[in-house]
Amino acid sequence: MRLPTPIIAVALLLALPVLLPYAFVSRRLHQRRLRSAAEAQPCPSCGRPLGVAALQASDEQWRAHVAELHRAHPGARFRLVRLVYAICITCGAHLHFREASGTFTPSKATA
Ligand SMILES: [Zn+2]
Repeated sequence: MRLPTPIIAVALLLALPVLLPYAFVSRRLHQRRLRSAAEAQPCPSCGRPLGVAALQASDEQWRAHVAELHRAHPGARFRLVRLVYAICITCGAHLHFREASGTFTPSKATA
């Protein structure tokens, strides 16, 4: 059984007051976990402290990657999965964040 599109649209509209705050809080908690882990954990490759700078370096690289994709494929819609959440500013290691353990591990991904 398939629901008619207007019913789905109305259901989504009615759920927005719940979904939007949930998405906002979920994102803030994720950012807080990343920041805490980056401040507490040294780089697994070189042993130097990661800090917020590693998160910012990764954010900048991610934004540049997405901007490049949009420039190369104007009008295209992407389904992107971000794998790198920190880049060590000392050794340049790309690090994946493991949500379950709250730790960074080396990643072979570039963005
Ligand atoms: Zn490092």
